[in-house]
Order: sequence, then C-alpha cells, then structure tokens
Amino acid sequence: MQRKVRVRYAPSPTGPQHIGGIRTALYNYLFAKKHGGDFILRIEDTDQGRYVPGAEQYLIDSVNWCGFEFNEGVHIGGPHAPYRQSERKHIYKQYADQLIASGNAYYAFDSNEVVEAKRKEAEAEKKNWQYDQFTRMRMCNSLTLTDTETAQKLSENSSYAIRFKTPIAEDVVINDLIRGRVVVNSKQLDDKVLFKSDGMPTYHLANVVDDYLMQISHVIRGEEWLPSAPLHVLLYKALGWEDAMPEFAHLPLLLKPDGNGKLSKRDGDRLGFPVFPLNWTDPKTGEESSGYREAGYFPDAFLNILAFLGWNPGTEQELFSMDELVQAFSLDKVSKSGAKFSLDKARWFNQQYLQKKSASQLLALLKAQFPSNDLSDAQLEKIIDLLKPRSVFAKDILSASDYFFTAPSLYDTKTVEKKWKENSPQIVQELQEVFAAESDFSAANLEATFKAYLEEKQLGFGAAMPPLRLMITGFGEGPSLFDVMEILGKEECLERMEKVEAIKIATKN
Ligand code: GLU
Repeated sequence: MQRKVRVRYAPSPTGPQHIGGIRTALYNYLFAKKHGGDFILRIEDTDQGRYVPGAEQYLIDSVNWCGFEFNEGVHIGGPHAPYRQSERKHIYKQYADQLIASGNAYYAFDSNEVVEAKRKEAEAEKKNWQYDQFTRMRMCNSLTLTDTETAQKLSENSSYAIRFKTPIAEDVVINDLIRGRVVVNSKQLDDKVLFKSDGMPTYHLANVVDDYLMQISHVIRGEEWLPSAPLHVLLYKALGWEDAMPEFAHLPLLLKPDGNGKLSKRDGDRLGFPVFPLNWTDPKTGEESSGYREAGYFPDAFLNILAFLGWNPGTEQELFSMDELVQAFSLDKVSKSGAKFSLDKARWFNQQYLQKKSASQLLALLKAQFPSNDLSDAQLEKIIDLLKPRSVFAKDILSASDYFFTAPSLYDTKTVEKKWKENSPQIVQELQEVFAAESDFSAANLEATFKAYLEEKQLGFGAAMPPLRLMITGFGEGPSLFDVMEILGKEECLERMEKVEAIKIATKN
C-alpha cells in the first residue's frame, strides 16, 4: 500500500528564517500538495540556550505572507500535538532507554572539559579527535565501567550523556531522492550524544523520534543536514523502525550571488538585498534586518523567486501561480548543485508581477500614499498605467509620479545641458500657442498637433520633444508625453510651458 505523504518543516527557533529556510518550507508544501499529503510545522527547540523569542511567529507570518499554510503545527494543533519539542520532553527518554537496553547506546560520563582536552591534544598534533568507535573504549562510559560502577554513577546523579553506539565499519546507504545513492562508512561517524542528564534529547534523537511518531513519509531539508542522515538511518534501524523510515531529499544550498559560499543569515543586508522574507528586529541587540515584503516585493513574485532557487520546470515557463507550482513541482527537477541567488532575477520577477496587476489593484495599494490631489480615481489609474511599464516595484510608480501633482521647479541638469538649445525657448513658446488654440486636449489630438507643428516648421522630433518634456515634467525621459499632458489638462500644461526663463537656473542632478 502506498504510504500517505506527510512532510514537515522543522526549524529551530534560533532567529528569523532566511530565504533558504522558507524555500525548504515551500518545497515541502509543494510536494505535500502535489501528492495530496499533509504539511506539518514542528518546532525543534531542544537547544533552549539558542532560543530566540519571536522566531516562531516570524516563521508562521513569513509562510502565510507567501500564501501557503500548514495542515498541522504549533499554531493550529493536530492529531500529533504537541508540535513543539520542548513540550514533548517526556516522550524521548524511553527511546534513549530502549537504545541502551538493546546495546545501541551507552552512558558516557566524561565531562565536557575532558572531551575538549582530548580534542585539543589531537589538534596540537594536527590530528582530529572524536568520541567514536576508535576512542570510546578509552573513555569513561558504561562500556568501560562495570555495571555496578555505572549504576553507582547514575545513583549519585553524576551528569551523563547517552551516546549512540555507532556500529563498527558498516556501509550506511542513503537513497536520496535528489542526490541518488549516498554511501557513508560508519567508521567516519562519531558517537553522537542523543540525550543529556538534564532530561533533554539532542536534535538527532528528537528529530528521528518525532518523524517516526508523526508518520513522516519524506524528509525534505537543506543539504547541511546530509552529514546527519547516516546517523538518522542507523537510528531508525536501531529502534526497529526501518520499515517506517522516511525517504530523504536534501536540497541544494543557496549561494551568494558570486557563487562564493553559502548565503547566510549573517549576510543580512550586507550584500545589497534582504536575506529575510520580512523585516526583523533582533530582540537582544535591536539590530534591524530588512525583508522582501517591506522592500516592496509582491508575495506572488517572492514565491516565484523562491521556487526557482534550486528547481526549474524544465520548460521555458518562468511565471507560476501557486497552483501551477503544485502541478509542476517534482523533486527530480531539483538540482544537486548550489543555487546562486540573483538580485537581477529577483527584481525581474517582481517587475513581471507588477505588470500583471491591474491599475485598480495598484490604486488600492497606493491611493493613501499619493499626495492629496483633485484627481479622480480614473485619472490616478491612468497615471499608474503610464508609469507601470517603467517600474519594478509599486513604490517606483509613486516616486515617478511627482510631476503629476506638482509642477517641476527643478529641471534635469543633463537634459538641459544636452538638449536645451538656443531655439528651445522659442519652440516651447510656439508650441504653447499651438496648444492654446486646441480645445481637444486628448493625447491623440495633442500628438497630431505636435506633428503638424514639426512639419510646418521643418523641425526634427529631437529638437522639440526634449524641451517640451523638460518643461512639463522636469525630466528628459518618461512615458508618452501626450498622455501625461492629457492627464494634466490644458491649463496646467500651458502654465508649465510659461517658465522658459526658469530652466537655465533651476537645474538638478
Ligand atoms: N531543526 C533542524 C533545522 O533547524 C531540522 C532539520 C531537519 O529538517 O531534519 O533545520
């Protein structure tokens, strides 16, 4: 019988999730939806020392902003609640005990200092030291002590760690759905701590136990967890759960734009773009990091950006709605090699989504931010339609729209230097007279009038258009000037064309 697809996103709340984390969540969601499965949020907070308040809510807010949601999780409950590992503390000890009883784990009493000293000693000789199958018989643990000594230590409440007794020289096979067959010999593995005498499991034990109890069918996570996978496979075997073992898929790393190294939380805004989905203020230091939402990205564009960081559909299509992503997504189209983040591509996606938005959708977003004005919604929508093709973000429309609300008082220096000629004042004045005679101030009629004037005076477009545009907008470039003039209206345009004297002095960079 085919197993029900159940996947989980299992972050540790040690800070805001960066785009790589949200991408992992998204791929899990897409995989679940594609296969009619469930998508679960489990919070892995066994390392209380690294707990950051607000990180959990931040993750939920980020995922919701992107437009997807979990089926079970800390915030909504579900049949396997609780979903926060700190609230599941009572569950793990029995499995650590089971591993000890079956000879797959042992008590280790060596203090951190002793272990550290061993490591340092080896380091001085340029060697590596780890607590493993080669060294464990020289350490203080239940393998080297007698049963009575071990019982004695436990009854004295000595602090201990329960370590996994890694099998000797065994090939561990991981059939990764992205990477294929990965084989690691257990000789390379250390005897990881699974449980500590403070009653807390470590990541490895809690992760495997919860995946088993929550009936997770596929573990889809970042490549940084691949080195942990052999231990997880061995744990499933040691616990007698081999038949229920999930399939593994390790996603490619997200790389910095130059391909040099992993994109990390610490990159913050240092690279000139946000690495977080939403703004984040560090609760301890007050340090602020910017997010895609606040930078002006649309959630549907952000979703597309994330989807393409390590996956592509194998076709030319680049714009995908959530439903289309669910249809198209498959793990075998996820690449093995790291995915480089590209700011240009991210901006391109946003630009595409901006073009897809209707003027009325954008007006709803921008209306409150336009300067107070007498323009009707229909006129504002015309302004939006004119400026949209030249914009990447909705806010670009806003900043490019100033001259619709206020007559320019400064004129673009470069255009003045290059295009404002001796005959420009005369051309503007003549055009002003020509336009003054028109009662139809529609863009089409203005254009026809302008062309007739050029014809009559035997003037080129380049002699008349830049000076006229300068007078009307203050800029050398912009959307169709006749459309701009139609929106501004006759009176306003003629007034602006009066100011030929101002132009030489009032230039701006
Ligand atoms: N808690 C781990 C993390 O922070 C989960 C890794 C996994 O998915 O197994 O990413």
